[in-house]
Amino acid sequence: MPDRGPEIALRGTVASRGLALGPIALLGLAAGIRRRAGSPGEEESALRAALAQAAEELATVIETGDEMAGEILSFQLALIEDEDLLAPVFAAIAGGTAADAAWQAKLDLEIADYAAGEDEYFRARAADLTDLRDRVVAALSGGGRAEVLAEGAILAAEDLTPSRFLETDWRRYGGVALKAGSAASHVAMLARARGVPLLIGLGEAFARLEAGAPAVLDAEQGLLLLRPASASRKAARQRLEQAEARHRLEAEFLPRPAVTAAGQRVQALINVDDPALLDRLDVTHCDGIGLSRSEFLFRADRPLPDEEAQFQVYRRILAWAAGRPVTIRTLDAGGDKPIPGLTPDGESNPFLGLRGLRLSLARPEVFAVQLRALARAAPLGNLKVMVPMVTRPQELATARALFEQAVADCRAAGKAAALPPLGMMVEVPAAALTAGDFPADFYSIGSNDLVQYVTASGRDNDSVADLYDPANPAVLELIARTVAAGRARGVEVSLCGDMASDPALVPLLLERGLHVLSVAPGRLAAVKAAVAAWRPHG
Ligand code: PEP
Ligand code: MG
Repeated sequence: MPDRGPEIALRGTVASRGLALGPIALLGLAAGIRRRAGSPGEEESALRAALAQAAEELATVIETGDEMAGEILSFQLALIEDEDLLAPVFAAIAGGTAADAAWQAKLDLEIADYAAGEDEYFRARAADLTDLRDRVVAALSGGGRAEVLAEGAILAAEDLTPSRFLETDWRRYGGVALKAGSAASHVAMLARARGVPLLIGLGEAFARLEAGAPAVLDAEQGLLLLRPASASRKAARQRLEQAEARHRLEAEFLPRPAVTAAGQRVQALINVDDPALLDRLDVTHCDGIGLSRSEFLFRADRPLPDEEAQFQVYRRILAWAAGRPVTIRTLDAGGDKPIPGLTPDGESNPFLGLRGLRLSLARPEVFAVQLRALARAAPLGNLKVMVPMVTRPQELATARALFEQAVADCRAAGKAAALPPLGMMVEVPAAALTAGDFPADFYSIGSNDLVQYVTASGRDNDSVADLYDPANPAVLELIARTVAAGRARGVEVSLCGDMASDPALVPLLLERGLHVLSVAPGRLAAVKAAVAAWRPHG
């Protein structure tokens, strides 16, 4: 039995929260399979047939999957038809290399290129290429990929490919542990959207994993316990049971409006970064969309779409919301969200640099395209627009003037347009301390950034994760001040950072008078349950 020996705790990074207890199922990759080579002519036809088979398999998954699956796998389908990618492979085959070796060599080069990219988005796409490489190699070797059949197992792999994720029946698995991975990858996004616990970045310690050995995947504390001691198993089982009971209870709150124990109605909005997610969400479960991060609405590997393409995306989100409020945030590029060709390279401290509205004001020609698209979307629903990273009142005033100009430009071009309410993110301490001085139609507190700026602890830095504390009294004080400023000016104050998605922190927000929360869709039930349990003191 592989379960003898002391417990080993491996550290990883949580990419999708959750807990699992089960045997390790090591995912075998098809790469590396070698076949006997034929003549160059035979090899060329073999590769063409394998590419056709791969295309057919991908098309099937796209057809049966949702829109998000379609978008992800379409990238691979496009690669199969990419002449620039294929030409050197066919050239190598003509020179006598076997089809699988030629294909794999070219794809390995591409994968290495993507993996070494400066941009997180490109690094994350290496998984898509790996997926395609293995799919075609498997087709060339005349087989499909081996299925892992362990029930409730923890799927462990060097990296998991998006199509593999989409093909997997997740009812049979408790979670995933990856040697590599990235929290910004498509797989991480899919895992979070579907509630599959995912731990990434196990690194070299991954070699210690043994197929079939029992393990606890703690994608809450960032741990993978191999051969867990009986006390660890028992504790994990208890936590799992508690989590299941909690989920069952919370699920009852999902279709109901959020109301506190004292009968106060709370607006429970959702954060929608990926419009493809909307296909799987029931709009009647929420009061609208409190944050749509527009920098995530478009492909990060391409230049920003033109006005028409942006307008179509905004229009679709508004149509889904069916009259409920939809707050779209203008581009918050920069910081941890670079956009090639737009955000500056080599800033010494990008979180304190040219990001958010600062960048939009520095690139008014890019900003104007987005403002025109938003102005055209405004008459089509209950649109609200907000700007990120505002520091001084004048920035907001300038943004408003540019927005008015965009409306005028649209109308001059014969397009219907309107000026929606213009609000601001409160995420810079200077803005939180003086929120009342800003000409905002509404305030939305961005706790993710506010916490990092108030505690001087990078939101992406594990080593100061302890200090990055949303419950720090200084953070709570700034939230309270913003709520007071909103009341004094008679405008709405909401909170759309991750803090609102944490049921343990929800009481702290309600205590400070916040009654509009925008949360991750998967946390809506838990947040509504936390609201229902809350009663004001005294
Ligand atoms: C925030 O800072 O809380 C926020 C919602 O914005 P982002 O996470 O996109 O920086
Ligand atoms: Mg922010």
